[in-house]
Amino acid sequence: MSFQKKLNFDDLKKYIIDIFFPNRCPFCGKVVKWNESCCEKCFDEIPFIKTKHCKKCGQEICICNDTEIFYDGCVSIVDYRGVIREGIINLKLDKAVNLVDVFKDDIYKKLSDIIDVEKINIVTAVPMHKSTKRIREYNQADVIAEKVSKTINKPFNSKLLIKLSNDVAQHKLTRLERSKAVKGLFSAEEKHIGEIDGKIVLLCDDIITTGSTLNECAKILKYNGAESVYCFTIASTSLCDDKSENV
Ligand SMILES: [Zn+2]
Ligand SMILES: [Zn+2]
Repeated sequence: MSFQKKLNFDDLKKYIIDIFFPNRCPFCGKVVKWNESCCEKCFDEIPFIKTKHCKKCGQEICICNDTEIFYDGCVSIVDYRGVIREGIINLKLDKAVNLVDVFKDDIYKKLSDIIDVEKINIVTAVPMHKSTKRIREYNQADVIAEKVSKTINKPFNSKLLIKLSNDVAQHKLTRLERSKAVKGLFSAEEKHIGEIDGKIVLLCDDIITTGSTLNECAKILKYNGAESVYCFTIASTSLCDDKSENV
């Protein structure tokens, strides 16, 4: 097959952008070929999740009996450590929007473990408060959700939920404190309730720790009529890992 025939529009865009802004490994920043998602060394160090996690709460140590879980399933691809920690920090700083491309082939497969992917109606992201978004200029969960939606060929809407206020730093809180801290932080966006009602929603974020944030968002989506809510995060970490930065 000729070079031309092999390139689709997205590839062509990547190829051209690469001429001006060389493609970089989302973990270490090293320049990589336009069609590579990361460098070989970092790829070999990716801590893919190999242990069994609960398909409902998404945790390695199931919390379904201790907490009311509003989402119907949750899955993550990697452990939040090593190169992944670097990659997610870079993604937050807007330097590694190609991070999700590394996992392109894993997304559909992982989601299939918890849901019939074809049944998903809409993909959305855990929202960021507008003041934070103004400073950071973009929400990393949106980047993830948009790429996931492209990969599974389902519509994406970043405006189903809004974050009403900024939360306090959560990384020192216990699970119970975290679930209390996120109460009332989110709401459904009036204009988009029609896209929630009766729908199967896939909610995306970068990291799951206790799942409190995802759970609170799922609660709002269910309250506004979602038939079911499934969660997807790139990474998973646990509370005892003091490097966790999300909830
Ligand atoms: Zn690298
Ligand atoms: Zn569970």
